Amino acid sequence: MRIVIVGNGPGGVELANQLSGEEITIVEQEKVPHYSKPMLSHYIAGFIDKEKLFPYSLEWYEKKGIDLNLGARAELIDRARKRLITSEGEIPYDVLVIATGARPREPALEGKEFVHTLRTLQDAERIKEQIEKYEEVLILGGGFIGLELAGNLAKAGYKVKLVHRGSNLLGLDEELTKVIMEKLECDGVEFYLNANALKADKEGVLTDKGYVNGKVKICAFGIVPNKEIAVKSGIHAGRGILIDDHFRTSAKDVYAIGDCAEYNGIICGTAKAAMGHARVLANLLRGREDRYDFEFRSTIFKFGNFPIALIGKTRGGGKWLDKKTKVFLEGGKIVGAVVMEDIRKAMMLEKKIKAGVSIDEL
Ligand SMILES: Cc1cc2nc3c(=O)[nH]c(=O)nc-3n(C[C@H](O)[C@H](O)[C@H](O)COP(=O)(O)OP(=O)(O)OC[C@H]3O[C@@H](n4cnc5c(N)ncnc54)[C@H](O)[C@@H]3O)c2cc1C
Repeated sequence: MRIVIVGNGPGGVELANQLSGEEITIVEQEKVPHYSKPMLSHYIAGFIDKEKLFPYSLEWYEKKGIDLNLGARAELIDRARKRLITSEGEIPYDVLVIATGARPREPALEGKEFVHTLRTLQDAERIKEQIEKYEEVLILGGGFIGLELAGNLAKAGYKVKLVHRGSNLLGLDEELTKVIMEKLECDGVEFYLNANALKADKEGVLTDKGYVNGKVKICAFGIVPNKEIAVKSGIHAGRGILIDDHFRTSAKDVYAIGDCAEYNGIICGTAKAAMGHARVLANLLRGREDRYDFEFRSTIFKFGNFPIALIGKTRGGGKWLDKKTKVFLEGGKIVGAVVMEDIRKAMMLEKKIKAGVSIDEL
């Protein structure tokens, strides 16, 4: 089976790894091998060297028998001839997997040319150079990427401000938002909540609550799935590339996984999910039964010194089990949890939540 994968992010590389032994080709527009996006803020903060971002060497790809085509952009899928058209030529496939990921949502601000976004190693290099020069950073957006950056840069001693348009962080309730803020404030992060950014200039950002200074500005307003290759090739797309519960797109033998894929209105948006998709799809392609639970989300983030796990449903009325654990209930059953600092406990709770335990069974 000739399997062609577009994209060498965690989704693409994990799928290639799982299917090693088959005839695998990866087409990737970037010129470097796979690197870890979750580690980019650690690199910017100066905690790790660049080499540490790369978990797999070029020899690893060779040993696994993966034909890695770097610097090649996939342009179109010729579905009738089962060929992928790339900037470097055509590649025949039996199975094509789109794992093109996403890009950062651009800020709709006047002066957006003064604002960075962070997705690639190149973005990280640019930001690193700037913060080392100015030593202060203004982050727009209180999602997980904004908080990761804030936590790591504050821990590294940079002056960090974070502007967020809502009153809650990560879609969590007021109590949890307060705990996250207190943890990050201890490391020196200054929060500006309920503030809408209106205009950016060289020195900072004008919000509807006043002007906030910050020479280096980074916007983390969420992601836009890279669905263009599918759209151009006549494959159905919504916000992302539409898939069914077997990762099938509307085109025969063409699948989509990771940040570019949309299942039932859900775009997963994490490396953990992209790798999960890859493992399940690998089983399905090998004819084994498997299923990915799109409704159940679970991710561990590290905001500087502060690890936090969000498991399952984390909205609505919650109950504190102890100072570091809040669980969320539906009809007496635990359907979600937020666990701070204790990651082992988070993993244990995740298993119990998946098993459908009630609060009394904990
Ligand atoms: C700063 C930062 C911190 C993060 N922290 C976390 C975290 O702590 N935990 C977590 O779980 N997730 C985290 N994420 C999110 C995570 O990195 C993404 O969800 C994940 O990378 C998605 O994987 P993917 O394989 O779907 O896509 P991507 O990683 O986006 O990879 C897609 C690849 O496809 C390539 N590509 C796109 N179009 C084409 C084309 N036409 N032709 C050829 N190649 C193409 C791109 O160049 C890219 O290399 C973070 C992301 C960022 C940016």
